[in-house]
Amino acid sequence: MKAIQMVDLKGQYDKIKEEVDSRIQGVLSTSTFINGPEVKGFQVELEQYLQVKHVIPCGNGTDALQVAMMALGLKRGDEVITTTFTFVATAEVIALLGLIPVLVDCDEDTFLISTEAVRNAITPKTKAIIPVHLFGQCCDMDEIMEIANENDLFVIEDAAQSIGSSFHFKEGRSQQSGTIGDFGCTSFFPSKNLGCYGDGGALFTNDDALADKARVIVNHGMKVRYYHDEIGVNSRLDSIQAAVLSVKLKRLNEYGNARRAVAWHYDEAFKDLPQVITPTRVLNSCHVFHQYTLRIVGVDRNALQRHMMDNGTPAMIYYPVPLHQQKAYLDNRYQDGDFPIAEQLAAEVLSLPMHTELDKEQLNKVTETLKSFILENR
Ligand SMILES: *Cc1c(COP(=O)(O)O)cnc(C)c1O
Repeated sequence: MKAIQMVDLKGQYDKIKEEVDSRIQGVLSTSTFINGPEVKGFQVELEQYLQVKHVIPCGNGTDALQVAMMALGLKRGDEVITTTFTFVATAEVIALLGLIPVLVDCDEDTFLISTEAVRNAITPKTKAIIPVHLFGQCCDMDEIMEIANENDLFVIEDAAQSIGSSFHFKEGRSQQSGTIGDFGCTSFFPSKNLGCYGDGGALFTNDDALADKARVIVNHGMKVRYYHDEIGVNSRLDSIQAAVLSVKLKRLNEYGNARRAVAWHYDEAFKDLPQVITPTRVLNSCHVFHQYTLRIVGVDRNALQRHMMDNGTPAMIYYPVPLHQQKAYLDNRYQDGDFPIAEQLAAEVLSLPMHTELDKEQLNKVTETLKSFILENR
């Protein structure tokens, strides 16, 4: 049996090697490494896939979030509401821009931002909400958009983990995650669902003026070369990465299906174990399983993780510490116990190997290793 990994980038590459190699070779032979035709080509392909008016490629997902907040004109002291249970990048750029990250708790079953908590956190200084479509399914965008409209707030979707997932609104319409708010931001980090072979990211928007602004900001604040209308950043997707992404985008739906099949296998394997709570699906979102994350209750989660690691079946904790308990973000505003659900989840969650190349034998090894520990230690 092939060694089990959390993510198998090599196995996936081997299957598309010929096409990827030839596209990369194409970039090398034209030497248009920056802003080449591959970047524009991928941008248009992604706009079509997402059914969104504008995709603005950039250097990584963290930059995408930063550029979104800059393009929206958020100012020092403005408050931005986001979840405490996320990857640090979401809050990092809020703080870097001198804005105030207002953290809120999440939902116990879905791990997603609590819309009730968002409502309660709104003050006269609130300017934006950043829902994070954590682990690959959408936050309650019916509610989030309603709250935003009622309170005149911007919405920036952190879709770094959810590309390919769509949300079905009450009224019947469906939209791809990241195309619902004022901006959506994604990451093409290699292990993300649509990953390149280095760093990459993008912003999505349906607003022409915001798209223009973001395009200027990612390019040093210039529209006409060497004329700088505003302070920007340098954040680009390079042509080699765009070529890789173009090959992989064609397979994104197929990759999503492979991930859902893995999730279904895990669901079935654990359904009779009360100590293992399998991930709840949000009814009006499709799930692309960036992570398959369990809650482990009544047994020692950390010991279980060690047992799995020792037996060649990796398992990871995303995330061990919520943002309000991180040294850099304590900020005298937060203390232990402020967000009990996120704190509880940090102690319970365990993510299993999840990628497009897992075979039956590997899946059985993962589930058997986990089950045997639970049965011996309950
Ligand atoms: C990966 C990730 C980011 C940041 O993306 P990078 O490309 O690594 O900068 C932001 N938010 C979330 C939720 C992520 O998972």
